[in-house]
Amino acid sequence: MVRNTEADTIIIRLSGEIGIKSEWTRRSYERQLIKNMKVALKSQNLKPTAIVRVRGRIYVHMSIQTATETAKALTRVFGISSVSPAKQTTSELSDIYATAFEMVETALPQNATFAVRCHRVGTHPYSSQDVCRNVGEQILEHFKSRNPKVNLTNPKVTVTVEIRDKEAYIYAEQIPAQGGFPLGTQAKTVCLLSGGIDSPVACWLTMKRGSPTVPIYIDNTPYTDDRTRQKAVDTAKKLQAWSTGKISKIYIVPNGENIQAIQEKAPSRFTCLLCKRLMYRIAERIADDEKALGIVTGEAIGEQASQTMHNLFAIDEAATRYPIHRPLLGFDKLETEAIAKKIGTFEISIMKAKGCTAAPSMPATQARLSAVKEAEANLDMAAMVESALQKTQILEL
Ligand code: ATP
Ligand code: MG
Repeated sequence: MVRNTEADTIIIRLSGEIGIKSEWTRRSYERQLIKNMKVALKSQNLKPTAIVRVRGRIYVHMSIQTATETAKALTRVFGISSVSPAKQTTSELSDIYATAFEMVETALPQNATFAVRCHRVGTHPYSSQDVCRNVGEQILEHFKSRNPKVNLTNPKVTVTVEIRDKEAYIYAEQIPAQGGFPLGTQAKTVCLLSGGIDSPVACWLTMKRGSPTVPIYIDNTPYTDDRTRQKAVDTAKKLQAWSTGKISKIYIVPNGENIQAIQEKAPSRFTCLLCKRLMYRIAERIADDEKALGIVTGEAIGEQASQTMHNLFAIDEAATRYPIHRPLLGFDKLETEAIAKKIGTFEISIMKAKGCTAAPSMPATQARLSAVKEAEANLDMAAMVESALQKTQILEL
């Protein structure tokens, strides 16, 4: 009989932070995580045969042909710190040896160093150390022609045997996932999503901590163009792929006429600040409708003129009913870009589009709140919010 060397189980390690929650919280987080895992797998047409929860771990059993895809899909689910494609067997040593050979077959290159680790729960006629030593010896003997060497401190390949009562799982790979908390364990937020590099990353980081976010794009046409809008929609679609079904739409809010009014009635150095204050107010109204509890933006200290400490102070005051969350506050651009690349939004965000032509060449960098409010007094902000909301469209992604 030809034995199959592929994994039949994916071992899921939960984020460490979940493990230190109270029993009740931990259980509810785990339940949410399993729900999200099912959605993630279903969206890829993957059908696990069983999902089993034990303390600190979840085992996903599936048909062996889908192990790679299943592992990959699960690394995108928040709340999981790493996954290992494993093969299940019994806790009999002879079965453990045979299965270890199968898992090592593809994982152990010529002249590689390796170590065997063992985690054991239950009563067995052997100790964990016995397992490590015996499996190690068996591998040395069985793969003699590959000239493997034991290295317990810095091995190239780590073979892990996890024994739980009558069962054992063997794996040689630990694939990092995202960590964080299961999406849906925190209340909703709305996210001001511009399609630039920063805001999709801010949105993703918020989701990573468990809060489903509803994207809002403020459409400043004719000061921007359809390509800018398309970037926002396309980044929202990328975020949707991380959302285990929790992002399904984007709000598109026409705002060009309001910008025109701002340009006509306020000093040009305040254009972006007044526009941001307007955006926050619009976002607050959408947060009401969505029953969200905060507004997420991609602002980072000093990244743009409107994001100096002075100017953040001057715009923040416009949001009176919801907190503005700025997950990128302390990020350097390169750190933000690294995440944008990982999550798949970077390539979209750097595509050519019309940057907002309403942005002044000499924006205020140290605006005084009183001066900004004085400028704002010439504008009917409340009416501007209303007219933008009336024209708002909800686009299903
Ligand atoms: P980004 O890279 O996200 O476009 P940015 O660095 O270009 O941000 P700003 O243009 O000052 O900075 O915008 C700051 C934040 O305001 C953005 O991260 C986003 O959250 C929000 N924002 C800006 N423009 C829009 C827009 N057209 N629609 C929705 N949100 C926006
Ligand atoms: Mg930017």
